[in-house]
Amino acid sequence: MATVADVTVHEGHWIGGERVSSPVAFEDVSPIDGQVIARVARGGAEEAAAAVSAAERAFPAWARTTREERARLLHAIADGVEKRLEQLAIVETTDNGALLRSHLRGVMPRVAHNFRFFADWLLTLGHDEFDTRGHRNHVSWDPAGVCALITPWNAPLMLATWKIAPALAAGNTVVLKPAEWTPLTASLLADITVEAGLPDGVFNVVQGYGEEVGAPLVADPRVRRISFTGSVPTARHIAAAAAPNLTPLSLELGGKSPLIVFADADLDLAVDLAVEQYDNAGQVCLAGTRLLVQEEIAAEFTERFVVKAATLRQGDPRDLSTDIGPNIHREHFARIDGFVRRAVEAGATPVIGGGPNTDLGGLYYRPTLFTGVAADSEIVNEEVFGPVLTLQTFRTEEEAVELANSTRFGLAATLATGSPERAERVTARLVAGTVWVNCFFVRDLQAPFGGARQSGMGREGGDWSFDFYCDVKNTVFAP
Ligand code: NAD
Repeated sequence: MATVADVTVHEGHWIGGERVSSPVAFEDVSPIDGQVIARVARGGAEEAAAAVSAAERAFPAWARTTREERARLLHAIADGVEKRLEQLAIVETTDNGALLRSHLRGVMPRVAHNFRFFADWLLTLGHDEFDTRGHRNHVSWDPAGVCALITPWNAPLMLATWKIAPALAAGNTVVLKPAEWTPLTASLLADITVEAGLPDGVFNVVQGYGEEVGAPLVADPRVRRISFTGSVPTARHIAAAAAPNLTPLSLELGGKSPLIVFADADLDLAVDLAVEQYDNAGQVCLAGTRLLVQEEIAAEFTERFVVKAATLRQGDPRDLSTDIGPNIHREHFARIDGFVRRAVEAGATPVIGGGPNTDLGGLYYRPTLFTGVAADSEIVNEEVFGPVLTLQTFRTEEEAVELANSTRFGLAATLATGSPERAERVTARLVAGTVWVNCFFVRDLQAPFGGARQSGMGREGGDWSFDFYCDVKNTVFAP
C-alpha cells in the first residue's frame, strides 16, 4: 500500500477480485517534485494471462445479467466516484501533474458521468424488429467477451472510463492496462467497483510496462475486443499483435490539429481559443497545435496572443490558481525540448517561450509559440504533446483548407469565423473526426469520437461504443 496525498492506494494488480503482487515493482514518480510516490507491481505475461482467465470466467454470468442490473451497478460505481471525488482528484494530480482545479471541477465529475451516461444509453438501445416475407428479424446487441483496454497517461481515469463504462454496460468483462507513468487512479477505481458490488472478475487491472504486460494482453486469443488510446507507434505494435487473432480494434491516436482563424473572426474569441490549446501543459490529443491565421490579421492576432499567454500562471498544479502545471516525465520533457531545439535550428522563431521554465526548474516547460515555420518542417508535422504551438499564415479559404488537411493526422479541427456560410463550406472539406466552430472541447458522449487518417480507427460514443463492444446479431424467425 502507498499513501499518496493522504490517500491509501494499493500498488498491486486487481485480478479476479483479489489483489495480486508481482516479484518486481516499478517506481511511480510524481512530475510535481520528482518524488517516488508508489512502487507498483510490474506485471508480465503471467499476470496478463491470469487477468484474461479471470475475466473469461466471470463473463458468462455477467453477460446474462439484465440490462437493468448492469445499469444499476454502473450507477453505483458513479456514486462511488462522486463519494471519493476529492481523493481521486488529488491522487491523479500527484500522479500526472494535471491541474487539481480541472480534476475537481471537470474531470472527475465527468468520470462519474461516463458511467451514468453509458448505463442510461444501454437502456435506450433498440432491439430492431422487422418483417421479411412473414419472417420476423430480431436484431440484438450481444456482449462480445473479454475486452482489453489500454490507456495513456494524459487523462488517465477519464480516458479509461470512456472505455470501461460502455464495455461493462454491453455485458463484457474488462482487463484494463493503465499507463505505467500514471497507474494509481485505476487502482482506486478497482476499490470503488468492489464497494459498488461488481462481481469478482468483471473488472480487472494489470499494472506494468506496455511491452511487458500490455503486449501479451493484446496478443491473447481469448480477448474479443481491444480498445487502445495512445500513440501511433504503439498502435502499430498492437495492430500487429491483434492481426493473427483478427481481434477487433478501436484506436484513438495522436493528432496535429489545425486551429484556423479567419479575418472575419471575433479576434478576442480566437485568441482565447488559441491560448486554451496550452491546456494540460499541451498534453491533449485534440489540441489545435497548428494555428493557421489569415494574413491580414496575423500581426494583431500574434500581439494579442502574446499578451493573453503572459497572463497564464505556471506552477504547482495543486494550487487552484495555477493554469499550467508540469509535463509528465523527464523522458517526455526531454522529448519536448528536443522538438523545440530542432525547430530553432531549422530557423523557426519562438515568439514566446522556447525552453524550460528555469525559474521553476523541474518539469515545467514554458508555453511556446513559433512563427517562421516551414510547411514541411518537423515542428509543423510531428505531434509534440507539450505546450508548443506553431503559427502559419494563409491568404485564401482554399489555402486554409489545404494547409489544415496537409497532415497525416485527422483527429480534430477548430475554426474561428464570423461567417456561418464560410463555416459550412470549410467544415465540409476538413478531414477530422471532430470539428469545432467558434468553440473548443465541447464533447457530448452521444457524439461519435475518433480520428481520420493516422489519428485512429473506429468511433466511440453513444451507439458507436455499443457497436464496437457488442456482437450485433440478427435472428430470423420463420412464420
Ligand atoms: P503510448 O502509446 O506510449 O502508450 C499508451 C499505452 O500503451 C500505455 O499504457 C503503454 O503502456 C501501452 N503500451 C505501450 N506499448 C505497448 C505494447 N507493445 N502493447 C500493448 N500496450 C502497449 O502513448 P502515451 O505516451 O501514453 O500517450 C500519448 C499519446 O496518446 C499521444 O500520441 C496522444 O495524442 C495520444 N492520445 C490520444 C487520444 C485520443 O483520444 N485520440 C487521447 C489521449 C491521448
